[in-house]
Amino acid sequence: MKIIAQIGITDQEWEKLRPTIESSNIFPTKIFSGTPSHGTLGLVQFRLPVDDERYILLKKEMVEKGIRNNEKKEIRFDPQEIEEAEYSILFQKSMWGYPQPEDDYQNESYDLSSGCQRCRQGLKQNKPFMLSGKPKFGRNDITALFWIYESIITEKLKDLIENEGLTGAEFWPVLRYRKTGQRLPIPGIYQLYVRGELPPVSPKTQFEWVSDLPKEIQSCGCNIIGRNLPAAQLVYDRVSLRDAKDFNRTFEFIGGGPGSQQWKVVSNRVYRLFKKNAIRGADFRPIVIND
Ligand SMILES: [Zn+2]
Repeated sequence: MKIIAQIGITDQEWEKLRPTIESSNIFPTKIFSGTPSHGTLGLVQFRLPVDDERYILLKKEMVEKGIRNNEKKEIRFDPQEIEEAEYSILFQKSMWGYPQPEDDYQNESYDLSSGCQRCRQGLKQNKPFMLSGKPKFGRNDITALFWIYESIITEKLKDLIENEGLTGAEFWPVLRYRKTGQRLPIPGIYQLYVRGELPPVSPKTQFEWVSDLPKEIQSCGCNIIGRNLPAAQLVYDRVSLRDAKDFNRTFEFIGGGPGSQQWKVVSNRVYRLFKKNAIRGADFRPIVIND
Protein backbone atom coordinates (compact mmCIF):
# COMPACT_ATOMS: atom_id res chain seq x y z
CA MET A 1 0.00 0.00 0.00
CA LYS A 2 1.26 3.42 -0.89
CA ILE A 3 -0.11 6.87 -0.26
CA ILE A 4 0.61 9.17 -3.14
CA ALA A 5 0.39 12.92 -2.81
CA GLN A 6 -0.47 15.02 -5.81
CA ILE A 7 0.74 18.53 -5.25
CA GLY A 8 -0.26 21.46 -7.41
CA ILE A 9 1.54 24.80 -7.35
CA THR A 10 1.61 27.80 -9.64
CA ASP A 11 4.54 28.14 -12.01
CA GLN A 12 5.74 31.13 -10.00
CA GLU A 13 5.92 29.02 -6.87
CA TRP A 14 7.56 26.33 -8.95
CA GLU A 15 10.41 28.71 -9.73
CA LYS A 16 11.02 29.21 -6.02
CA LEU A 17 11.33 25.46 -5.57
CA ARG A 18 13.24 24.81 -8.76
CA PRO A 19 16.71 24.30 -7.21
CA THR A 20 15.44 21.64 -4.84
CA ILE A 21 13.25 20.05 -7.44
CA GLU A 22 15.94 19.83 -10.08
CA SER A 23 18.52 18.47 -7.72
CA SER A 24 16.08 15.86 -6.42
CA ASN A 25 14.98 14.54 -9.81
CA ILE A 26 11.32 15.35 -9.37
CA PHE A 27 9.43 15.53 -12.62
CA PRO A 28 6.14 17.37 -12.98
CA THR A 29 3.28 15.18 -14.17
CA LYS A 30 1.15 17.87 -15.69
CA ILE A 31 1.60 21.47 -16.66
CA PHE A 32 -1.22 23.82 -17.55
CA SER A 33 0.21 26.86 -19.18
CA GLY A 34 -1.35 30.06 -17.97
CA THR A 35 -2.51 32.94 -20.10
CA PRO A 36 -0.68 35.98 -18.75
CA SER A 37 -2.85 38.33 -20.82
CA HIS A 38 -5.85 36.99 -18.91
CA GLY A 39 -3.98 37.10 -15.65
CA THR A 40 -4.01 33.33 -15.23
CA LEU A 41 -1.05 31.48 -13.88
CA GLY A 42 0.32 28.22 -15.07
CA LEU A 43 -0.05 25.20 -12.88
CA VAL A 44 2.50 22.55 -12.16
CA GLN A 45 1.69 19.24 -10.60
CA PHE A 46 3.83 16.48 -9.33
CA ARG A 47 3.22 13.23 -7.54
CA LEU A 48 5.29 11.65 -4.82
CA PRO A 49 4.72 8.92 -2.26
CA VAL A 50 4.32 10.55 1.15
CA ASP A 51 7.07 8.43 2.66
CA ASP A 52 9.53 9.54 -0.03
CA GLU A 53 12.38 11.66 1.31
CA ARG A 54 11.85 14.15 -1.50
CA TYR A 55 8.24 14.67 -0.43
CA ILE A 56 9.29 15.34 3.14
CA LEU A 57 12.02 17.72 2.00
CA LEU A 58 9.74 19.59 -0.33
CA LYS A 59 6.92 19.93 2.19
CA LYS A 60 9.38 21.39 4.66
CA GLU A 61 10.62 23.88 2.10
CA MET A 62 7.11 24.88 1.09
CA VAL A 63 6.29 25.66 4.71
CA GLU A 64 9.53 27.62 5.15
CA LYS A 65 8.97 29.67 2.01
CA GLY A 66 5.25 30.08 2.60
CA ILE A 67 4.36 28.43 -0.68
CA ARG A 68 0.69 27.75 -1.09
CA ASN A 69 -0.12 24.44 -2.63
CA ASN A 70 -3.04 22.24 -3.34
CA GLU A 71 -2.47 18.74 -2.13
CA LYS A 72 -4.58 15.68 -2.73
CA LYS A 73 -3.74 12.26 -1.45
CA GLU A 74 -4.73 8.92 -2.81
CA ILE A 75 -4.16 5.38 -1.73
CA ARG A 76 -2.75 2.70 -4.03
CA PHE A 77 -2.57 -1.03 -3.58
CA ASP A 78 -0.49 -3.70 -5.26
CA PRO A 79 -2.47 -6.30 -7.18
CA GLN A 80 -1.26 -8.86 -4.66
CA GLU A 81 -2.64 -6.88 -1.72
CA ILE A 82 -6.05 -6.75 -3.38
CA GLU A 83 -5.86 -10.42 -4.26
CA GLU A 84 -5.17 -11.37 -0.66
CA ALA A 85 -7.56 -8.99 1.09
CA GLU A 86 -10.36 -10.75 2.98
CA TYR A 87 -12.64 -7.78 2.42
CA SER A 88 -12.38 -4.74 0.20
CA ILE A 89 -14.39 -1.66 -0.60
CA LEU A 90 -16.04 -1.92 -3.98
CA PHE A 91 -15.96 1.27 -6.03
CA GLN A 92 -17.28 1.93 -9.49
CA LYS A 93 -14.94 3.51 -12.00
CA SER A 94 -17.59 5.14 -14.13
CA MET A 95 -20.75 7.10 -13.55
CA TRP A 96 -23.83 7.68 -15.60
CA GLY A 97 -26.95 9.74 -15.06
CA TYR A 98 -28.73 10.54 -11.83
CA PRO A 99 -31.96 9.49 -10.19
CA GLN A 100 -35.17 11.03 -11.46
CA PRO A 101 -37.07 13.22 -10.97
CA GLU A 102 -33.95 15.20 -10.32
CA ASP A 103 -35.55 17.65 -7.90
CA ASP A 104 -37.65 15.07 -6.09
CA TYR A 105 -35.97 11.67 -6.33
CA GLN A 106 -35.60 11.34 -2.58
CA ASN A 107 -39.33 11.60 -2.19
CA GLU A 108 -39.77 8.86 -4.79
CA SER A 109 -37.08 6.39 -3.77
CA TYR A 110 -36.14 7.01 -0.14
CA ASP A 111 -37.76 6.43 3.22
CA LEU A 112 -38.19 9.97 4.43
CA SER A 113 -38.65 8.81 8.00
CA SER A 114 -35.07 7.46 8.02
CA GLY A 115 -31.91 9.39 8.77
CA CYS A 116 -31.72 12.70 10.56
CA GLN A 117 -35.01 14.57 10.66
CA ARG A 118 -33.28 17.93 11.08
CA CYS A 119 -30.56 18.03 8.40
CA ARG A 120 -32.10 15.25 6.22
CA GLN A 121 -28.86 13.36 5.84
CA GLY A 122 -28.56 9.60 6.13
CA LEU A 123 -31.70 8.67 4.21
CA LYS A 124 -32.24 5.01 3.32
CA GLN A 125 -33.53 3.94 -0.06
CA ASN A 126 -36.73 1.91 0.04
CA LYS A 127 -37.97 1.95 -3.57
CA PRO A 128 -36.32 1.44 -6.97
CA PHE A 129 -34.59 4.34 -8.65
CA MET A 130 -35.92 5.88 -11.82
CA LEU A 131 -33.65 6.94 -14.66
CA SER A 132 -34.20 8.88 -17.83
CA GLY A 133 -32.83 6.02 -19.92
CA LYS A 134 -30.53 3.04 -20.01
CA PRO A 135 -27.03 3.82 -18.73
CA LYS A 136 -24.19 3.53 -21.18
CA PHE A 137 -21.94 0.80 -19.88
CA GLY A 138 -19.39 0.65 -22.67
CA ARG A 139 -17.29 -2.38 -21.85
CA ASN A 140 -18.14 -2.16 -18.16
CA ASP A 141 -20.66 -4.30 -16.34
CA ILE A 142 -21.02 -1.99 -13.39
CA THR A 143 -21.46 1.75 -13.20
CA ALA A 144 -22.65 4.24 -10.61
CA LEU A 145 -25.25 6.96 -10.57
CA PHE A 146 -24.08 10.51 -9.99
CA TRP A 147 -24.99 12.11 -6.63
CA ILE A 148 -25.72 8.86 -4.81
CA TYR A 149 -23.07 6.48 -6.16
CA GLU A 150 -25.34 3.44 -6.03
CA SER A 151 -24.33 0.60 -8.36
CA ILE A 152 -26.16 -0.25 -11.54
CA ILE A 153 -25.13 -3.54 -13.14
CA THR A 154 -25.77 -5.52 -16.29
CA GLU A 155 -27.82 -8.68 -16.46
CA LYS A 156 -24.59 -10.57 -17.14
CA LEU A 157 -23.09 -9.49 -13.81
CA LYS A 158 -26.34 -10.18 -11.96
CA ASP A 159 -26.37 -13.74 -13.33
CA LEU A 160 -22.74 -14.28 -12.38
CA ILE A 161 -23.35 -13.13 -8.80
CA GLU A 162 -26.46 -15.28 -8.50
CA ASN A 163 -24.85 -18.38 -10.00
CA GLU A 164 -21.89 -18.03 -7.67
CA GLY A 165 -24.30 -17.95 -4.71
CA LEU A 166 -22.80 -14.76 -3.26
CA THR A 167 -24.74 -13.44 -0.28
CA GLY A 168 -25.99 -9.98 0.64
CA ALA A 169 -26.86 -8.71 -2.85
CA GLU A 170 -30.37 -7.94 -4.04
CA PHE A 171 -31.18 -7.03 -7.60
CA TRP A 172 -33.69 -4.24 -7.82
CA PRO A 173 -35.29 -3.14 -11.04
CA VAL A 174 -34.41 0.30 -12.32
CA LEU A 175 -37.46 2.07 -13.72
CA ARG A 176 -37.74 4.37 -16.68
CA TYR A 177 -38.93 7.71 -15.39
CA ARG A 178 -42.14 9.07 -16.79
CA LYS A 179 -43.88 12.08 -15.37
CA THR A 180 -47.21 10.44 -15.96
CA GLY A 181 -47.98 6.94 -17.06
CA GLN A 182 -46.37 3.66 -16.20
CA ARG A 183 -42.82 3.49 -14.95
CA LEU A 184 -41.54 0.20 -16.29
CA PRO A 185 -38.28 -1.59 -15.53
CA ILE A 186 -35.47 -0.81 -17.97
CA PRO A 187 -34.58 -4.18 -19.48
CA GLY A 188 -31.14 -5.68 -18.93
CA ILE A 189 -30.07 -3.60 -15.95
CA TYR A 190 -30.45 -3.83 -12.19
CA GLN A 191 -29.45 -1.94 -9.13
CA LEU A 192 -27.05 -3.96 -7.03
CA TYR A 193 -28.80 -3.25 -3.76
CA VAL A 194 -27.01 -4.13 -0.53
CA ARG A 195 -29.25 -4.28 2.52
CA GLY A 196 -27.04 -5.57 5.31
CA GLU A 197 -25.10 -3.02 7.38
CA LEU A 198 -21.91 -3.86 9.23
CA PRO A 199 -21.38 -2.59 12.79
CA PRO A 200 -19.50 0.72 13.05
CA VAL A 201 -15.85 0.70 11.99
CA SER A 202 -13.03 0.56 14.52
CA PRO A 203 -12.11 3.94 16.02
CA LYS A 204 -8.70 3.29 14.46
CA THR A 205 -10.12 4.30 11.09
CA GLN A 206 -8.53 7.65 10.32
CA PHE A 207 -11.42 9.65 8.96
CA GLU A 208 -10.80 13.25 8.05
CA TRP A 209 -13.68 15.48 9.05
CA VAL A 210 -14.79 17.96 6.43
CA SER A 211 -15.00 21.51 7.71
CA ASP A 212 -16.88 23.23 4.93
CA LEU A 213 -20.25 21.48 4.98
CA PRO A 214 -23.38 23.56 4.45
CA LYS A 215 -24.22 25.42 7.66
CA GLU A 216 -27.43 23.57 8.44
CA ILE A 217 -25.63 20.25 8.24
CA GLN A 218 -22.55 21.40 10.13
CA SER A 219 -24.61 22.83 12.95
CA CYS A 220 -26.97 19.87 13.21
CA GLY A 221 -24.71 17.84 15.43
CA CYS A 222 -25.89 14.43 14.23
CA ASN A 223 -22.56 13.96 12.43
CA ILE A 224 -24.04 11.52 9.95
CA ILE A 225 -21.98 12.98 7.14
CA GLY A 226 -18.69 14.83 6.96
CA ARG A 227 -16.32 11.87 7.10
CA ASN A 228 -13.77 11.68 4.37
CA LEU A 229 -11.26 8.92 3.79
CA PRO A 230 -9.02 10.06 0.95
CA ALA A 231 -5.89 8.18 1.90
CA ALA A 232 -6.54 5.74 4.70
CA GLN A 233 -8.15 2.33 4.99
CA LEU A 234 -11.31 1.34 6.78
CA VAL A 235 -10.45 -0.62 9.91
CA TYR A 236 -12.78 -3.24 11.39
CA ASP A 237 -12.43 -5.34 14.48
CA ARG A 238 -12.64 -9.01 13.56
CA VAL A 239 -15.75 -9.45 15.69
CA SER A 240 -17.58 -6.82 13.61
CA LEU A 241 -17.27 -9.04 10.56
CA ARG A 242 -18.71 -12.12 12.26
CA ASP A 243 -22.05 -11.84 10.44
CA ALA A 244 -20.69 -10.24 7.29
CA LYS A 245 -22.03 -11.43 3.97
CA ASP A 246 -20.28 -11.23 0.62
CA PHE A 247 -21.87 -7.81 0.06
CA ASN A 248 -22.27 -5.39 3.00
CA ARG A 249 -22.82 -1.71 3.62
CA THR A 250 -20.81 0.34 6.03
CA PHE A 251 -22.80 1.71 8.93
CA GLU A 252 -21.12 5.07 8.31
CA PHE A 253 -21.86 7.48 5.52
CA ILE A 254 -18.49 8.31 3.99
CA GLY A 255 -17.44 10.74 1.34
CA GLY A 256 -16.92 14.22 2.58
CA GLY A 257 -20.20 16.05 2.09
CA PRO A 258 -23.72 15.92 0.76
CA GLY A 259 -23.54 12.86 -1.45
CA SER A 260 -21.80 10.83 1.23
CA GLN A 261 -22.86 7.23 0.97
CA GLN A 262 -22.57 3.95 2.79
CA TRP A 263 -19.66 2.23 1.11
CA LYS A 264 -19.88 -1.37 -0.02
CA VAL A 265 -17.61 -3.81 1.77
CA VAL A 266 -17.28 -7.01 -0.23
CA SER A 267 -15.61 -10.34 0.38
CA ASN A 268 -12.67 -11.83 -1.44
CA ARG A 269 -15.18 -14.08 -3.24
CA VAL A 270 -16.62 -11.01 -4.93
CA TYR A 271 -13.19 -9.89 -6.04
CA ARG A 272 -12.38 -13.35 -7.40
CA LEU A 273 -15.66 -13.62 -9.28
CA PHE A 274 -15.05 -10.24 -10.93
CA LYS A 275 -11.49 -11.19 -11.78
CA LYS A 276 -12.29 -14.65 -13.11
CA ASN A 277 -14.89 -13.20 -15.44
CA ALA A 278 -12.85 -10.13 -16.40
CA ILE A 279 -15.60 -7.80 -15.16
CA ARG A 280 -14.69 -4.22 -15.90
CA GLY A 281 -15.67 -1.04 -14.15
CA ALA A 282 -14.89 -1.95 -10.55
CA ASP A 283 -12.09 -0.99 -8.19
CA PHE A 284 -11.28 -2.82 -4.97
CA ARG A 285 -9.65 -1.11 -2.00
CA PRO A 286 -8.66 -3.52 0.81
CA ILE A 287 -9.76 -2.87 4.38
CA VAL A 288 -7.79 -3.60 7.54
CA ILE A 289 -9.03 -6.21 10.01
CA ASN A 290 -7.95 -6.06 13.64
CA ASP A 291 -7.60 -9.55 15.05
ZN1 LIG B 1 -28.57 15.95 11.19
